Order: sequence, then C-alpha cells, then structure tokens
Amino acid sequence: MTVSTCVSAAKNGRIFIVGATGFIGRFVAEASLDAGQPTYVLVRPGPLDPSKADIIKALKDRGAIILHGVISDKALMEKLLREHEIEVVISAVGGTTILDQITLVEAIQAVGTIKRFLPSEFGHDVDRADPVEPGLTMYLEKRQVRRCVEKSGVPYTYICCNSIASWPYFDNKHPSEVLPPLDQFQIYGDGSIKAYFIDGTDIGKFTMKTVDDIRTINKNVHFRPPSNISDINGLASLWEKKIGRTLPRVTITEDDLLNIAAENRIPESIVASFTHDIFIKGCQVNFPVEGPHDVEIGTLYPGESFRTLDECFNDFLLKLEEQLELEKNKVSTKTTAVVEPRAVTATCA
Ligand code: NDP
Repeated sequence: MTVSTCVSAAKNGRIFIVGATGFIGRFVAEASLDAGQPTYVLVRPGPLDPSKADIIKALKDRGAIILHGVISDKALMEKLLREHEIEVVISAVGGTTILDQITLVEAIQAVGTIKRFLPSEFGHDVDRADPVEPGLTMYLEKRQVRRCVEKSGVPYTYICCNSIASWPYFDNKHPSEVLPPLDQFQIYGDGSIKAYFIDGTDIGKFTMKTVDDIRTINKNVHFRPPSNISDINGLASLWEKKIGRTLPRVTITEDDLLNIAAENRIPESIVASFTHDIFIKGCQVNFPVEGPHDVEIGTLYPGESFRTLDECFNDFLLKLEEQLELEKNKVSTKTTAVVEPRAVTATCA
C-alpha cells in the first residue's frame, strides 16, 4: 500500500538522459541501467575523444540505447521523445550550456506526454544560494530554466544533492576525479562550516528513485544524509587517518577565495565562488528543509543508506595504493630495462 502511493505511472518508463558522457550524467545513466529502466542516452554528434567513446560503449554494452543530437534542436528533440515514447527526461548538461535546456523544455511541452523533467541542477538550491560572480551567472541561468519549466506545466524535480564526496578543491569542478591532498591541506576560513558530501553513485541512485515518486513532483529534493556531513577540518582529519600521517594546514581566507573568483578564469573562478558560498557563507546548511516545495531525501527513503564519507575516503585510499603500485612497477621495469642492455654489452665485450 505504502509502495503504491509513492509510485507514479512512470515506473519502468523510458528514461531519456542528456549529458551521460559528462561527470554527473554518467552516474545517472549507470543508475538508470542499474534500476532496470529502459535508458535512452543522447550523445552529441561529431568526433568523440577516446574516454567519451569508452563511456558510450560501456553504457551501450549494458543496454543503453544511444541517440544522437543536441538539445537546442527542438524539432529533433520532439521527434526523438515521441518516437521512443519517452516518459522521463533527465538533463545533466554542463555549466556552459544550461540555457540550451530552454529549447528542450519547449520540445517536452510540445510532446505533452512527458511525466517528469529533471533539469541540470545537481548542486545547491539555486533559488536560495547566492554565490558571488562568476558563479552567480550560472545560478541565474539555472533559475531561468526553473522558471521556464514551472511555466510549461511539465512536472519537474530539482535535485539539490550538494557536494560530491571528495576533497573540495577550490579550482577543480570535478574534484572526485583526483585524490585528496598528499602535501598540505588548504582550509577555507576557520574550516568549521559544514557541508554535505555525497558519493557519485548515490547521486545517481537516489536521483533515479525520485523520477517515479509522486512525492517528488514539483519539489526541490535536498540530499542531507547525517552520515555525509562534515566541515573541512573533519575531512582533513579523516584523510590523515586513512594515510596514517598528518599534513600541514594552510588557511585560504575569505578574501583569497573572493580574489580568485574575481579573476574570472572559467571554470576555476566559478568553483572558487561556490567554494566561498559553501565554506564561508554556509549555503548548504543555512536554511531548514521545510518549505512547501522542499523535501529531504532521507524522509522519502528512510530504509536506504548512503555510502558514508568514511567509505568514500577508503575508495581514495585504494586509488592511492593502486597508483603507488603502478609507479613501483614502472620504476622496476625501467631498472630492468637499464640493467639488461648493460648485461648484454658486458657479455659482448
Ligand atoms: P560535464 O561538462 O561534465 O558534462 C556535460 C554533458 O552534457 C556532456 O555529456 C555533454 O556532451 C552534454 N551536453 C552539453 N551540452 C549539450 C547539448 N546542447 N546537447 C546535448 N548534450 C549536451 O557537466 P557536469 O557533469 O560537470 O555538470 C552537470 C551538472 O552537474 C551541472 O548542472 C553542474 O552544475 C552540476 N555539477 C555538480 C557537482 C557537484 O559536486 N554537486 C560537480 C559538477 C557539476 P559532450 O560529451 O558532447 O560534451
């Protein structure tokens, strides 16, 4: 009974994912396949770099149907959505093409049968967070897309998943792709402002749970699991525990972050402005989740756990050990390569 009240008609519906070759979109596409949903992935035409080609092949091997096109082509979007009887559209386009989604919304509205649209959010509640420029421009664009979706009447869900579990480098937009520091920690302000750090696989998994849940229609879904909150001092201590040694801590002040943001280097300055908003102004924790359009993910799925920060940092430790092993093998191969010719020379002499 409880189950049927929270499942909409889109259960096992066809999912159309935009941006699956990107950082966040890949987690979503994999989670859609994990959930057994018929998954249609839109790929931009044109030459692909090898890493993106590998991602597409991996998704295809798992059963994803690959479609080609760009979201700014309204006629094509309408055709694809109709032809494949798509029920849910999820967009994870990057920061430079946020406004292209307006044409996608127009196509979705014209088709008239889409049961849910998730625009490219996957961060903060952009109506509440207020970063300095140049981050603000991206939020103004995301807000513009929100207003367009709301006006269209298409049911929507905004995923406010906060930060990805990783060391929050102020100049890296995909920080979970690299290891936490091994030389020194850069601590923002006094390092005491808390934030939520969510594993990428959980961003995908819980996003997919929302798409056929009537409780998330026209809602901001906030990811605030208690196992994933920390301040940056806490993250530093966690990583020190994992690597078994302490590292120096250097303070990056509020002014330092504002100065980097003001340099307007894209994307680094955008990340610096978000870092300022998170770790100086506390944009992830300075409001309660209690508005009529807000829902917290833990209250929706109380039986489901998130991968903890401890587990996520164990993954980084494993990666570090793999890297060290690789480097060790490289050194020993080099040593062997140097030694062997010498031995041959000696024999010939
Ligand atoms: P990426 O730049 O990594 O990937 C963007 C994807 O969208 C790519 O697959 C790209 O295709 C595709 N794409 C872009 N424009 C179009 C278009 N017009 N038509 C079709 N496909 C298109 O994006 P991110 O993963 O970094 O960002 C996605 C969202 O996640 C953003 O809203 C961002 O703000 C947020 N984010 C959140 C983070 C967090 O920690 N919470 C971290 C990073 C991002 P192609 O491969 O051809 O380029």
